[in-house]
Amino acid sequence: MTGNEDRICELRERGTLASEDLRELLSTLAPTEEELLYESAREVRERWYGKDVYLRGLVEFTSWCRNDCYYCGLRRSNARAERYRLSERQVLSCCDQGYDLGFRTFVLQGGDDARCTDELVCGIVRQIRDRHPDCAVTLSIGERPRSSYEAYFAAGAERYLLRQETSNPAHYRMLHPPGLTIESRKRCLADLKDIGYQVGCGIMVGTPHQTWDHVVEDLLYMRGFQPHMVGIGPFIPHKDTPFRDEPRGTLGDTLHLLAVVRLMLPQVLLPATTALGTIDPQGRELGILAGANVLMPNLSPRDVRGKYLLYDGKARVADEAVACDLQLGRRIARMGYELAWGRGDHASRCGAAVR
Ligand code: SAH
Repeated sequence: MTGNEDRICELRERGTLASEDLRELLSTLAPTEEELLYESAREVRERWYGKDVYLRGLVEFTSWCRNDCYYCGLRRSNARAERYRLSERQVLSCCDQGYDLGFRTFVLQGGDDARCTDELVCGIVRQIRDRHPDCAVTLSIGERPRSSYEAYFAAGAERYLLRQETSNPAHYRMLHPPGLTIESRKRCLADLKDIGYQVGCGIMVGTPHQTWDHVVEDLLYMRGFQPHMVGIGPFIPHKDTPFRDEPRGTLGDTLHLLAVVRLMLPQVLLPATTALGTIDPQGRELGILAGANVLMPNLSPRDVRGKYLLYDGKARVADEAVACDLQLGRRIARMGYELAWGRGDHASRCGAAVR
């Protein structure tokens, strides 16, 4: 066995590696090593979740944002971004339609919208839970005080997605304006976990100035934090941001990292993201083959889908997004996987229900 094959087996069996070995695993692998990595990731995923691929209905409910992250098309300074905020009624109608299609989890995502008050968020969450008690609600609305997170949880939100973006403080400062810090981001993640949410963190692959050493730091942070979900997608430049001329993250690097995360966090819920499907028409299928086990079809109303633009070229803004995504689901089913329409909780939260 090569050194890297040894490392892959050790990571698969023990769920961790010394940082130098993680660093080695992130370097270019020989084709047989790369194949072993993906095979191992699939095997570990199946150990916990079988062939199930969980579906979440994504509702992008506000494009307003008070932050100014250098990578994101929704940043406050982007005067060209078209802003919208769905009404409570519109959000509920997206969820009702999603429910009829079979979804049992809804992810409400948006910019850090100052007008989106705790009262509003709690009202929406409560109503979704009232109308569809068998559904889980996930929020992804950025950094808020602990008291707000507590209020959403009490209203019935059980999951929260907040990517750390990068764990390295100096790199974090290269991606964000002064005032946004990794310490605050991590504080929020710790609060969310402590309150009892199923929490998702994550990073973009290939952001400007990112090195593999930064990625090792991210892996070690995730290993310590033990998130329930990890969102990983390639960085893709947006034409109206300071990073407009930066290269995008690659398919190969993203798949590679998905597989390493699967080995390190065997039970994690790992989406094959829209960004991955944007840089390659087969990106999401390949993500599933690299150990991902979640898809998030877009349930946002058609007239706003083209306004929630984090990056250029976002897939399926014009057409029937859900229908397309469900076609993708069928392709994935043909690859031997099964679309799982249930709530799809983390293995630690559903006891005997999980294999
Ligand atoms: N306001 C929320 C949601 C942000 S959008 C929050 O702060 O958590 C969700 C994710 O999209 C971000 O966390 C980021 O990782 C990703 N994203 C933003 N801009 C991107 C870009 N240009 N390319 C790829 N992913 C991007």
